[in-house]
Formats: sequence, C-alpha cells, structure tokens
Amino acid sequence: MSPDYIVTIGLEVHVHLDTKTKLFCSCPNITGGEPNTRICPVCTGQPGALPVFNERVLFQAVLAALAINCRINHRSIFARKQYFYPDMPTNYQITQHELPIAEKGHLGGTGINRLHIEEDAGKLIHTGGSSLVDLNRASAPLIEIVTEPEITSPQEAGDFLRNLRQILRYAGVSDCDMEKGSMRCDANISLRKNQDDPLGVKSELKNLNSFRSVEMALDYEILRQSEILSSGGEVIQETRLWDEDSLRTKGMRTKEESDDYRFFSDPDLPPLLVGEDFVEEVATYLPEMPDARKNRFVTEFGLSEYDAGVLTQEKDTADYFEEALKVCGLKQSKMLASWLSVEVAGQLNALGVSMSDNPVKPAHLGSLVREISQGNVSGTMAKDIFAEMFETGFSPENIIEKKGLKQINSEDEINAFCEKVLKDNPDLVEKYLDGKHGVLGAMVGQVMKESRGQANPKKVNETLRRLIEKFQ
Ligand SMILES: [Zn+2]
Repeated sequence: MSPDYIVTIGLEVHVHLDTKTKLFCSCPNITGGEPNTRICPVCTGQPGALPVFNERVLFQAVLAALAINCRINHRSIFARKQYFYPDMPTNYQITQHELPIAEKGHLGGTGINRLHIEEDAGKLIHTGGSSLVDLNRASAPLIEIVTEPEITSPQEAGDFLRNLRQILRYAGVSDCDMEKGSMRCDANISLRKNQDDPLGVKSELKNLNSFRSVEMALDYEILRQSEILSSGGEVIQETRLWDEDSLRTKGMRTKEESDDYRFFSDPDLPPLLVGEDFVEEVATYLPEMPDARKNRFVTEFGLSEYDAGVLTQEKDTADYFEEALKVCGLKQSKMLASWLSVEVAGQLNALGVSMSDNPVKPAHLGSLVREISQGNVSGTMAKDIFAEMFETGFSPENIIEKKGLKQINSEDEINAFCEKVLKDNPDLVEKYLDGKHGVLGAMVGQVMKESRGQANPKKVNETLRRLIEKFQ
C-alpha cells in the first residue's frame, strides 16, 4: 500500500443471468457442452434473422437491480456496439448505452452508477497454432454493474464483490461463479496526491479470474503507479492484463488504440418499457437479504453472531436450517446449527456436493436432533445414524428401527450390563475402592462395549458408582 497517494477504484462486473433461453432467441442458455450445438440463425447473426427479447431476462435484471437498490428506468434502449472480433458473428454487440435499465443504486457503502442488459460473445478456443470458434455462449444474457469510482482499497473492492455475489445468489439471479465465468470483473484504478486533486490517469485491469486476483492485481497496480508518480513520471491510460503466473499486470492497449464503437440504437429492437406495476411485482420476489436474515437468526433462534453468519452465508443453507428447525423445535437451535455446519457441511465439502444436492432431507436432520435431545440416541450413535442417512437418504427413525439402535435407558437392562462388567473386572473395582476413581472411565467403556454402544452413558456412569459403593 502507498500512504503517499489516494487510491480510487471503480469496478465493472458482468453477471451471467440464470434463464432458460438466451437473450434474443430460444437457444438454451447453458454454457459449455459440445461446441456450436446451442446456436440458431439469430445468435449466429444470419442475414434476415430478427432478435426477440426474452421477457425472463427483464425479470432477472430488474430483480438484480432492486437487490442493489437501483432506480429502474421505465424506458431503456438497446444499442449496437460495433466492433469486429471472430467470436462476434454480427460484428456488433447488443447492449444498453445511453439509457440503461437501472441506475443510481448502492451496496454497502459503495454507490452503483448503473446496471444494464447486454449479450455475451462466443468463445475462441486456441489449439496448436489455429483458433476455433464456439458460439454456444453467443448472445447469452448478461447484466453489467458499474460502481461509482469511490472504492479506496483492494480489500474494499474484494469485500464489495463478495457482498455482491452473495446478494445476487440470494436473489436467484445467477450462481456468480467466477471460475465458470458466470461472474467477471474488470477494475479501473487511479492514484492522486490530494483529496482536492482531480482523479488521476487510470488503468483498466482485465483477466481477473477470482476475488483474490482482483485484490492482488490492484495491490500490484498501486505499487506500479506510485513508483511511476514518485519518480516524476506520468501514468498512461491503458488496459492491462493480470498475469496469474508472474503476478504482474501487463500493458495490452493504450487509449490511442482504443476503439470508437459508433453506438446507435438497434433498429430491430423497440425501446424496453417497464411499468411501475411490473417493478412492484418483481419486488415481491426479493428474498430476505443475508444481513437481515443473520440478525433474525440471532434474535429469533438465539444463535451466536458467528453461527448465524455461517448459516446465512448461502440461502440454501439458511432455508435448510429453518426447515429442519420446524421438526426439532426452537430449543434445539444450537444443536441443529452445530450438526448442520459441522457434520452436514463437512460431508458435503468432502464429497464436493452442494447443499441443494444434500442427500439428507432437512426434516430428517431435524428429527435426528430431536431424537438426541430426547435422549433416545447418544452422540456416538447419532454419528453412525447420520453416516447412514447421508449414504441412503433414509430417515433416522427408519435406520434406528432397522438396526435396533435405540438407546437403552431401562434401569433393569443397564443394571444387568453394569453388574456383569463389575463381576468380570474385580481388579478395576479394587482400584476404584482404593481411591483411583479414574478407572471408572474404563468400566463405562466396558459397559458401552457390552451394550454395543446403546446404553445411555450418563445412566451407566451413575449406576456403576451406585453399585460399587455396595462393595464397601
Ligand atoms: Zn440462438
């Protein structure tokens, strides 16, 4: 970091919207797959093919805009951004230029300048000296979110992106997976000496493939620009690529080489008109947002800030928790929180499975916790039962029944086990009577073994003490 300069960062985030079909045609909106299998005359720019706007995109874009507190424009315009590149068969990208769908929002402390709808390009695959074109992604729906240039550190930029990702995932707008490219980020950064100075000359950073690389690239750029400025030089306005291997940014093109896109309104697409009633309807689909939900988990369920934070990190997990809690009851909220964030999350992580593919139904986890709280199963047995639930998807009742695993609480049965163990281990009894009370643990262990782990350990402990006293 450079204490000598004020850092100004702005972000441009592209988010791939989750919809069934592409932006202007009925091709499936799924990335990947066999190249050029999800294409049609519209998304490959054949002469005479006309775009038809996908209404679902409008719903998702407005939902995203509301989630980050933007004002919705009742009239927005699609424009053509003209340039040539082999992955863009129409030679123009349809985007929103002068009038975007939404403006003037905020997230956390950061202002959002605008949010607009645009289409994605295809993909070039470079192989052994030649390049191939895959248009499966061409014309997939994107939103671009542009922040105000008011972020002051790489850490703040990373926090903004993590926050944005969480909110958009909550809203169900996109999975925002940077690795898969469904969330992409460019960052503008400039330095200046004093708060009153105009913004310095900026560089635009690209090829940022993770939140971590956004932060590292910005850190590097602060160092690079401050060295130039400190030695009396001038930063030139340019686009720079982050190189993951050398951990440096490298110049790609300067402003002089930058294109004039000659934007103009797309003659094939009418203005996008959005009524207030539509906006109000979309707003009813906004879920409770992470911060609010976290607070409610603390006040309503009595969880710690930490547990509430872990459970509300992802909407799927928070939904799961509330579903399970209905079965085990509010008093078991802490035990349930621990089972969900330790046992369930641990298993899912180990297998690389997401919460939505969790084989254990929320109601089943709820009833397992209920069985433990009622003393019907011990902690150790519960772990075995859970392992089986995870493997088979069966309910805990079903597994307990099938395996005869119910905890033994009957005094007669526990007495019988304890008496046998005491009879078989006179040496341990003698030690205990000599005051070496530590051997009690070994005796409890023996009883647990005899009862195949089913005896209630607390009762075993009490019973053993009571029986040994009689030996005196
Ligand atoms: Zn198509």
